[in-house]
Amino acid sequence: MSTWKIIPIMSGEFPSFEKSGFTYLRDSGKKIKAPIPVWLLQNGERNILVDTGIGDLGLVEKYHYPVIKHDLEHSLRSHNVTPSEIDLVIWTHLHWDHCQNVELFENAKFLVQKTEIKYAISPMPVHRKAYEIGIKGLKPNWLEVIDRIEVVDGDADIAEGIKVFLHPGHSPGFQSILVNETYLIAGDNIPLLENWNAENPLESIPNGVHGNLADYYKTFQKIKEIDAVVLPGHDYAIFERPYYD
Ligand SMILES: [Zn+2]
Repeated sequence: MSTWKIIPIMSGEFPSFEKSGFTYLRDSGKKIKAPIPVWLLQNGERNILVDTGIGDLGLVEKYHYPVIKHDLEHSLRSHNVTPSEIDLVIWTHLHWDHCQNVELFENAKFLVQKTEIKYAISPMPVHRKAYEIGIKGLKPNWLEVIDRIEVVDGDADIAEGIKVFLHPGHSPGFQSILVNETYLIAGDNIPLLENWNAENPLESIPNGVHGNLADYYKTFQKIKEIDAVVLPGHDYAIFERPYYD
């Protein structure tokens, strides 16, 4: 089996984020700092990116939250990769803080779940801002590369050692990525490590942003069955190691 190196890269940070946004109905009023990561997957031949992070700072701060933006291109170059060498992007989901910067990746295809892209076009009103749709002045960045989007419908093998799972919860078409059969990029379904209860997955805490909670609890159960090391979506703990393999 080919072995992928899984490198967490900071695309930005939320300097003061409402914690209950991550931990549903818990710790309301508490503000925390949180990273906005993307993941570089390398096997010596290919460079794949999971999520593409935050883009235009002006739009982000006008419509969303204060953020600290990091230079994604510079970070990739520090791992000896140029954005044009990324041949595949896998989007966990289409919320704005995970799928911007598309203009950097001129040679990439962009993989997303069918359910997610359908929902991104016509979300419930409460989710419109997260998808940057139906709001004057905003347009989803992924529309710029619609000719290079590849839609996947359900669980699928993407490459040797990389598998995606349709895991509805934080968003209806959310996908987790299993790498090397060992690490599960769980992303925003498990934003902080404290959300996850590995012993008893049904005691896990849903993300404050979600659609159908019944689906979300089924997803917690499926994550447990995959039996991999869970990599959370907005927790600084992932940066305690420079890479995973
Ligand atoms: Zn999200």
